[in-house]
Amino acid sequence: MEKIGLFGGSFDPVHLGHLLVAQAACEEFGIDRLIFIPAARSPFKPDSAPANERHREQMLRLAMAGQPKFALDLQELSRGGTSYTIDTVRSYRSRHPKAQLFWLIGADHVATLDKWREASELAQQLEFLIIPRPGEAEVSPPKPFVAHQLRGFPLGVSSSQIRDRVARGLPIDHLTLPAVAESIRNNRLYI
Ligand code: ATP
Repeated sequence: MEKIGLFGGSFDPVHLGHLLVAQAACEEFGIDRLIFIPAARSPFKPDSAPANERHREQMLRLAMAGQPKFALDLQELSRGGTSYTIDTVRSYRSRHPKAQLFWLIGADHVATLDKWREASELAQQLEFLIIPRPGEAEVSPPKPFVAHQLRGFPLGVSSSQIRDRVARGLPIDHLTLPAVAESIRNNRLYI
């Protein structure tokens, strides 16, 4: 049975934490294809508009280059508006009725999974892989969600930290891939 990992986020910008999580999911759960799905607008970030879609897409493409298991899906950008997980999951379920689907989720969102749009339908459609954050305790999902803990590789990097460092003129070279850092500089993002 094919195992597909779905990794949604703002990716504004993509960083080493994201890439290490994707790699850990492939290694620990035998994921065959790991799909990065940039959100048009996250339901968790209603007040902040992310960087231009074209730039976020370009940075993801640079970060995923040469990784045969990684793929990019722009469906949430194409739909526009607030990006709801259930809409994306339905599209995968209809195209891959037999696949085992996993959704990668940050540990900080697990406790409120039952408040997500069409939560009980979501719980039926897939299982969750919980992304570890350094120093944080393991969390369990509310019923009836099924979730597994990822082990590697907790890294305390975030996109907001990168945006903040760029705005303050500080280097970001070791927080994301060199090609992504270069793209941020060339396109004058986050200044
Ligand atoms: P921001 O700082 O702007 O809130 P972010 O760095 O948390 O962004 P997102 O694109 O919003 O990045 O996150 C997408 C997914 O990646 C979320 O599930 C989030 O929990 C996870 N994630 C973000 N940073 C890390 C990290 N350092 N290690 C592991 N997972 C991460």
